[in-house]
Order: sequence, then structure tokens, then C-alpha cells
Amino acid sequence: MINVAVNGYGTIGRRVAHAVLKQPDMKVSGIVKATPDYVARMAAKTFRIYVPDEISARKFKEAGIDTAGLLPDLLSTSDIVVDATPEGMGEKNRTMYTGKINAIFQGGEDSSVADASFNAYSSYGECYGKKSVRVVSCNTTGLARSLFPVHSEIGIQHVSATLIRRATDPNDSKKGPINAIEPSLKFPSHHAPDVKTVIRDIDIDTVAVKVPTTLMHVHVVDARLRKNATREEVIGAWSKFRRVRLISGKDGLASTAQIMDMSREGNRDRSDLYEIVIWQDSVSVKGDRLNYIQAVHQESIVVPENVDAIRSSLGSAGQYESIDLTDRSLSIDREVFY
Ligand code: NAD
Repeated sequence: MINVAVNGYGTIGRRVAHAVLKQPDMKVSGIVKATPDYVARMAAKTFRIYVPDEISARKFKEAGIDTAGLLPDLLSTSDIVVDATPEGMGEKNRTMYTGKINAIFQGGEDSSVADASFNAYSSYGECYGKKSVRVVSCNTTGLARSLFPVHSEIGIQHVSATLIRRATDPNDSKKGPINAIEPSLKFPSHHAPDVKTVIRDIDIDTVAVKVPTTLMHVHVVDARLRKNATREEVIGAWSKFRRVRLISGKDGLASTAQIMDMSREGNRDRSDLYEIVIWQDSVSVKGDRLNYIQAVHQESIVVPENVDAIRSSLGSAGQYESIDLTDRSLSIDREVFY
């Protein structure tokens, strides 16, 4: 059994910890939580809780929540750590892991934080056996999921993608915008170079615009293919990959509101939607030009990738062995919607 430590128990950390619990070859050695809030009280029912420092230890004691020790204690009993602390903190934590334990970082960190960047379809092999691996962000994972099948089956010359980004996650009441549209003024946005960390030979530009919603991101993709193709060939390429799901506006899935409503009906943990969802109505292929629109559930799309990144980093399973195990455990291999 692989002993997995989860440092940071927020949107991503708590989902990864519960996904690890479902794996036949892994267990959670403990989680690290900084504040003794309702999330910590609920986590204490399932996990051993560790704290980052003595200040947090004192706060947990005052709140009456038992802790098992400090982060270094947890690292000493684990095979690998998944760092899901806030953006930028993984870089600071890196020195605590280097030379002691394999580490999985998240997409909020710069790519230089780790030996390689991870997407289960496109860079499992490149990350195999690497001491540190960074799972790319939700937007980058979404783009890589739909672009890799087309790039490997048909070939892509250039991608131009517009990312309409959710403002923050549903559990956050601090960030905005609340009543504004906020474009990223840098061209390309940081997402394009990030996609190249997991699909090295792709030529891509991205622009990103933040809007006041918390449910999902939406990507409008315009790609020039290496040769003329048909809509059926593109859809056929996607259909070989379980983490790519085609949906239709004709079924009432007109917006991210209905997609997440469908996901709630699917009864997965936290109503999560691990797949990238592509509106099949939006898929257009004219000669060598491909257009489509997709939606990303930012809170959960990277969860299967984190599980696979653990196996890839430790070299404990081959690519499709790991993907199959992960998909089975998270019900990605079954029809839970309709
Ligand atoms: P989050 O703020 O929801 O969770 C981070 C958690 O770490 C919080 O619970 C915070 O209290 C805790 N924390 C703070 N200081 C700590 C410390 N010293 N030690 C341990 N824990 C500490 O953040 P998140 O959204 O889960 O993001 C984590 C990483 O995942 C970031 O790199 C982010 O960019 C990336 N990511 C986020 C999303 C998303 O949509 N939320 C999607 C993909 C990737």
C-alpha cells in the first residue's frame, strides 16, 4: 500500500484525500490542516490530522480537535505527499520534501517547482519515476484532455482558445469579480505555455477572461488541424478517452447551470464532474478548421490526475493500468448520468 500524505485540505486537497481512500493500492497516512474550522472537525472523523506548525497546534488544542503531530512527523510515515496548499506555498514547502519524499504539486505553482508536469493522457511516461511532479491547473487539464486525442490521432497545427474563467470556488465569499468582466491583459495568458508543459509539440495561444460565476470554466476552442478531417473523425478520437465526455444542448444542457445540475443527479462525491465536457452541438469541422466549446468543473477535474500522478511518480503502475484503476474507483468508467 502507498502511504499518501495530503498537505492542504481545501478544494483540491479534500477531494484528493477522499479519492485516495477509494484506491485499492493506497491509503491516506494523514492530512495537514492549518485552521480548526468545520472542515477540520468533519475531516477528523476520517483522517489523522497533522498541523503545519506549533501556532496551528495550539489553535487545534484550544478548539478541542485532536492532532497527530506536525507536518515532518507525517512525512516520516508517508511514501509521497500531495501538496494542495494555496497557490505559491508549494514552492516554499518544496525544501521540506526534497531528498526525503516524492511530492505531487498543483497547477497554482510555477512549472519549475517539479521535475515534470503531469496530465494522465499526455505526460504519464515523462513523469514516471520522477521525485516531484506538478499536476497542471484545471484549465490546462481541460485543454490537454480534449486537445491531446485530436493532436495524437489527426494532428494540430495551431490552437487559439478563449477561456471564460469562473471568479472563484463556490465555498469562497472573499474573491470576485462580483459585477465585472476581468480580462487577463497578457497575451497569451499563462495557460498556453502551461499546455506546452504537458503536450510539448503543440502550438497554442490563449486569452482568459474572468466572469462572476463559481460553477465552471468554459473554453471556446478554434484549432487548425494538420490535414482536412471530418467531424466524425474528431468525435471518434475523443470517444477513445473516458475522461472526455460529449454532451448536448438538445438534452437541456444549455449552460454550466444545467451541467452541474446533471452532475448533482449523478450522485458522485460532492457532485463532482471529473470529465471534460464538450458540447457536441458546438463541434464543427470545415476542412482543416476545428471549433468546439467545452466546460471544466474546476473543483474536481484534476482529482483523477492527482491519483495517477502518485502512481506515475512512484512508478507503481503503468499508464493505462493506473487510469483504469482510477476511473473504476471514481465511477468514470460507468454511466452515472444518462
Ligand atoms: P484552497 O484555498 O481551497 O485550499 C488550500 C488549503 O490549504 C486551505 O484549506 C488552507 O487553509 C490550507 N493551508 C493554508 N496554509 C497552510 C499550511 N501552511 N499548511 C497546510 N495547509 C495550509 O486552495 P485550492 O483551490 O484547493 O488550491 C490548491 C492548489 O490547487 C493551488 O495550487 C491551486 O492553484 C490548485 N488548483 C485549484 C483549483 C480550483 O479550482 N480550486 C483547480 C485546480 C488546481
